[in-house]
Amino acid sequence: MLSLTLLFLATWHGDVMMGSAAKSGDASILESIRAKQEQISKAEKEKNGLKKNLSDVQGIKKSLESKKKDLNNYIAELDNQIAQIEQRMNDLKEQITSKEAEITETQAQVEDALAREKGQMDSMIVRAQQMYEKRSNLMSDLLLSASGIGDFLNRAEFMEKLVTYDKEQWTNFQNYRKYVELCERQLELEKEILDQTKENVQLEQNTLEIFMEQKKRDIEAYQSDIENKEKAIEEYEAMIKQQDEEIKALELAIEADRKRLSVMRTYDGGTFTFPLASYTRVSDPYGWRIHPILKVKQFHNGIDLAAPKGTAIYAAYNGVVVAAAYSPTMGNYVMIDHGDNLYTIYMHASTLKVQANAVVSKGDTIALVGSTGRSTGNHLHFSVRKDGEYVSPTDYITLP
Ligand SMILES: [Zn+2]
Repeated sequence: MLSLTLLFLATWHGDVMMGSAAKSGDASILESIRAKQEQISKAEKEKNGLKKNLSDVQGIKKSLESKKKDLNNYIAELDNQIAQIEQRMNDLKEQITSKEAEITETQAQVEDALAREKGQMDSMIVRAQQMYEKRSNLMSDLLLSASGIGDFLNRAEFMEKLVTYDKEQWTNFQNYRKYVELCERQLELEKEILDQTKENVQLEQNTLEIFMEQKKRDIEAYQSDIENKEKAIEEYEAMIKQQDEEIKALELAIEADRKRLSVMRTYDGGTFTFPLASYTRVSDPYGWRIHPILKVKQFHNGIDLAAPKGTAIYAAYNGVVVAAAYSPTMGNYVMIDHGDNLYTIYMHASTLKVQANAVVSKGDTIALVGSTGRSTGNHLHFSVRKDGEYVSPTDYITLP
């Protein structure tokens, strides 16, 4: 009997050790559950807020309506709205990337939690088998063989501890189960958020297309309106004049700066690189041509290269950026000073990648193709100016 008691006490002692380990596990699982619940309520808020962050198509249309009297104003506002939608899309795409990373992490947590839950269950089964079998045989023996009332009470207390320990293990197991469920719930929520975010990108894309299409239609309608034709021609010429004045003003400013700083840039005569990563066609050549919509002879001061939105625009040659700005006619544009009164101009970009005064090398990405300003489709308008006059870009670049 003594050896049996010792054996049992040894087992019990082992279990107490396990019990204390389980107890610290208990505290950490409760902490994990609390953290998970917080993450889930954050995810639920995120999910509920998703739909509210979409562009308000009707609201934007209304705000545009009031600007329609002045085409330049109207285009500037439209470009501004389109840029905001694009910004929202970029944010959403970033959210998708981080959500995908979170999902990978949560998936690992689910697997880990399932393994831990299984570990809990296995040890509980083993314990149930060991202890309940042993207890039924041994407990009565232990209690019956008590040498006195004190000894008996000690043993009764010991049994109570056993029961308490079993309860703790059961609670612990239930906590692990709950943790697994929370991990799975979080994973499910994260997947829902991801799907909704992807859907939102698509919805913003549709909104963007609505406004790009509207811009194209409104510019064309304005220009092709027969009653407006004279006005449109006048307006077009005024626009070109305005553009030229903007460019000339920049050149004058640079010249003044140069005199002040007595720094002369020189162009070493090197070959230009083609200013686009790729293009689909020349949509409008340099020189005198019949304006596609106005149907009158016009001078086109650059070459129009159609290319998908976002195509990289390269600096054609080494130089200094003298302007990287927005105007309702040129849209987002860049002007580079190559020295010796040689400049290149890049118009209608969706995004600018340089700032004024930046020193650029031939082939550097300075902007991305877009359709900002007076433009009805994605393209790069590329101009070359030499000694204050526009010259044919094909004298400097070779079409691939
Ligand atoms: Zn053009």
